[in-house]
Amino acid sequence: YQAKRDRTGVEVYESKRDSNTPDRLGLLGDLRRALDACEVELHYQPKVRFDGQVAGLEALVRWVHPERGKVPPDEFIAIAESSGLMPVLTEYVLETALAQVARWRAQGLRVPVAVNVSPRDVHTPGFAGSVAARLARHGVPAGALQLEITEHVLLEDPQRAADTLAGLTGHGVKMSLDDFGTGYSSLVHLRRLPVSELKIDRSFVARLAVDAEDAEIVRCTVDLAHSLGLLVVAEGVEDDETWERLRDLGCDAVQGWLVAAAMPPDETTAWLRARGARGWQRTPAALPAA
Ligand code: C2E
Ligand code: MG
Ligand code: MG
Ligand code: MG
Repeated sequence: YQAKRDRTGVEVYESKRDSNTPDRLGLLGDLRRALDACEVELHYQPKVRFDGQVAGLEALVRWVHPERGKVPPDEFIAIAESSGLMPVLTEYVLETALAQVARWRAQGLRVPVAVNVSPRDVHTPGFAGSVAARLARHGVPAGALQLEITEHVLLEDPQRAADTLAGLTGHGVKMSLDDFGTGYSSLVHLRRLPVSELKIDRSFVARLAVDAEDAEIVRCTVDLAHSLGLLVVAEGVEDDETWERLRDLGCDAVQGWLVAAAMPPDETTAWLRARGARGWQRTPAALPAA
């Protein structure tokens, strides 16, 4: 197990950091097998602009364990991160997402897809080149792929991360900064990362309509992002009032259960055809009759 010394030099056992419990090892082996057997799926959640246009889709990984049922992504991604399985998971996700983008394009549905990548991926040598090669193999233009990163990419080796991200944007891949406002947010990061989009974390969006401080944080974040030329997406929008506040604050797009939760591929196709094509309408029933 991993032990850490606290400030007084006493060893502290950290159960959360323990990556070698039988339970975690079991889950890790199961995840490895599930990836081999293609039992891990991607669901897709729309990002929509305030005029209803679909700005893109975010791919979110889903794993239903044969005995345990749904395992939350946060849980197995942490395991993949600490075990070295992360590059395998990311390759799987990129491959699955790009194959889906190619299918949608063949059906006339040209919607960009965002894939979440972990700091570990950004530090894997050759990552930018492998993404470019994969795009070429699927015949998907780089502009149809977005990668969502977090500020954690800068913690380990900022120079290596900056080089990889420059390589990716050089190939035409768009970068998005996810979970903004949590943890290590700093203006220095924003300046160093070649991102074109910033996503405000759900923790600030959730209580926006009732908490004046959260509203102020969102207002400042939107203004800051815009002054740097970034698009702003709000995560976790669940109700009309929050949608209206975000629109009034000048946010560019929203993602959340108000619009749609992440959906399996077929359901996403149907959603894109039925709702996406005309532009998503917040309250179709309340629209005045033409
Ligand atoms: P994230 O990238 O910030 O994704 C947003 C999370 O918020 C997703 O949780 C999504 O299902 C959830 N969400 C969306 N709208 C709402 C809403 O209106 N209300 C609430 N309460 N939640 C909402 P999910 O799918 O459980 O994913 C959790 C995290 O796991 C993601 O956070 C991302 O960091 C990570 N993740 C998911 N898929 C992948 C992947 O393929 N690769 C990597 N590296 N990480 C992934
Ligand atoms: Mg994300
Ligand atoms: Mg997020
Ligand atoms: Mg998150």
